[in-house]
This record gives sequence, structure tokens and C-alpha cells, in this order.
Amino acid sequence: MIGEHPIKQILIETRSYWDHEGTAANVRENFLKVIRCGTGALGAEIFASETESKLVFHTCKSRFCTSCGQRATESWQEDLETILPDVPYIGVTLTMPIEIRELFEQNKHLLHGVPAMGAEAIIQCAKARSGAHVLVLVVQQTFGGLLNFVPHLHVMVSAGGLQESTNRWIPRLRFDEPELMRAWRYALIAFLAEALKRNILRCSLTSEDLLKILATQYKRRWNVFISRAGSKIYRLKHDGRYVRRPPIAQHRTIRIGRYEVEYLAKNTRGKQFVATRYTNEEFVKILVEHGPDRGRHAMRYFGLLSPRSKARLWSAIFVLLNQQQRPHPPRTSWRGLHLKTFSIDPLQDSFGRSMYWVGRRAPFKAA
Ligand SMILES: [Zn+2]
Repeated sequence: MIGEHPIKQILIETRSYWDHEGTAANVRENFLKVIRCGTGALGAEIFASETESKLVFHTCKSRFCTSCGQRATESWQEDLETILPDVPYIGVTLTMPIEIRELFEQNKHLLHGVPAMGAEAIIQCAKARSGAHVLVLVVQQTFGGLLNFVPHLHVMVSAGGLQESTNRWIPRLRFDEPELMRAWRYALIAFLAEALKRNILRCSLTSEDLLKILATQYKRRWNVFISRAGSKIYRLKHDGRYVRRPPIAQHRTIRIGRYEVEYLAKNTRGKQFVATRYTNEEFVKILVEHGPDRGRHAMRYFGLLSPRSKARLWSAIFVLLNQQQRPHPPRTSWRGLHLKTFSIDPLQDSFGRSMYWVGRRAPFKAA
């Protein structure tokens, strides 16, 4: 099956490199899940008609698994498409200069605080201009196209907002790049200064030098991009590319014989591909480094999507927009998904008769 699941295949063949105590427990656990995904090792459901039977193997549900990650993204998109109000949205990209990235590289424990800083900057800008509340959905990414450490945020923001003082929905708010850049830069520098004060910023530099770096970076221009407004579906599709998906794209991973891997990395502008070759061992090192953080979601909700605002204002938004508020959709079953993708009912036997669930097979004992 080489070619179909290259990453799984590489993990199977390089198991001795990573399946030991030296690998972080959560990474190892996820790698094991991936290589067992869709095999008897995870158990199966048994379906049968009068004359035939079939096993449907359990999948791993790991974010690191290419097929399960893809599926999780799709159901996330479906869910948000249903529950979010149908208004235009903009996409905001917030980046940081290399000097700040280097600080985070030595302080990965602080990365989880970054989405809130980005959201806060956007929320403050919208409030300052028109006193409006916006919907904010932050997708945090830690790696750039060349698989290097480039923490940044992709943010989906409602193009309009709720003005509570007048009880109106303002259809189009004005967002200004320089203004947003200043708010984001301020929020992130203040966050790091606070970390330094509380002694949780590890660095080989003295506090004095660190403060100098923060002061210098506070004066320069950071890269912030605001897209034009697009439909809800367009934005979800676009930002979905960054959600719950393993950082290493399956379709850009090519095996060269048994001992080498070629990866098509994207350059910074994301327009050109650069082919880089790795030995199996080097490639596994990269996979480990990009490994999943257990229990940490790649996306976070703020503004009108924060639990507190939602409880208070969610229904009002739909009334003001004259739209129907919809509940979360039920999760599509694997049967429904199969039907949708292949137009074949997986639970029909070769005579077109329905097969029914008859039992479950326990996982094999892993070797
Ligand atoms: Zn899986």
C-alpha cells in the first residue's frame, strides 16, 4: 500500500526510531494510534446479511492521523456552517517578527496564551471604532510551509458586529491594518513583558537585554493582513485548511525507495514548492517535533463566540439578523459519509440486500 498512506507507512517502517521511552509519551501514543488506524488492532464492528458479512475496522481519531484529521476538519466545518449566523466574514492573519518567534521557540509553554492576545486586539479595534461586538474564531498555527517554527494566527471575524447601545447589527465594520497591527503588537509585547515579570519567560539573555528586545520590536512594523469579506462557507473552507490537520500534508510526502522521503514544502508565499529529501530517520524527527499537543485544540472562540457572550447575546444576534438559529447538526455516520463520497452504500451485500450490525470484534492484542 505504499503511496496511499505514506506517513503511516513511514511510521511502520521506522518504528524502532520512535517506539521507545525516549519519545514524548503523547507523541508515541499518537503514532501508535496512527499505525493501528483502520486495522484489526483497534477492533471492528461486524455487519451481516443472510449470506454475507463484513468487518468495519475502528479508526484512531487522532489529530495526527491524516484520514481521521481530514474527517474531523470536515465535521468541524459542517458544524460551524450550521450554527454560525449567515453573514460575511473576513480573514485576519497575525504574524510576529523573528526575534519574538525565537522567544516563543524557547518558551513553547507560552504559546497557548497567544490566541487570546490576537482575539483581544481584534475585539478592541472593533469596539473602539463602533462599540460593536464581533464573532472571533482563532486558528493557531505553529509551523510555516517549510516545516520551520513560525507561530502565527489565522482569525475568522464577522465583517459586521452587534452594537449593544443601539441594539443593532452593523453590517460592515471598518478594520484598518495599521491600527490592528498596533493593537496586536501591543497585546503580545505586554503578554511577554508580563511573563518576564512573573519569571516564567526562560531565556539565556538578562532581563535587561530582553526588555531591550521587546522595546525594539515594539517600534517596528509587524505583518498583519486583513482579507476582503467573503461568505461564511468560503471562510470556513479557507480556514479549515489550518484546523485539526496534521502539519505535514500527506499528499506532499513522497517515498523514495525504502530509506528516503521527499517532502514538497511550501515557500513563505505559499506559491512555490521546494522539494527536500530526508532519510527516514530525519523525517521521523520532524514528525516528532510537529507532533500533536494532547488536549490542545487548534481553534479557539472569542468575542460573541465566547461562552459568556453566547449565553447573553447569541439569540439576540439571530433576531436582529432575522435569521433562524439552528442547533448543532448530528454527526454524519461513516455510512452516510461513504455514501456521500462514493455513492455506494457500504452496508449492501453483493445482491443489494441490507447488512445489519451483528456484533463487535475486540482489538487484537498489539504486538
Ligand atoms: Zn486514524
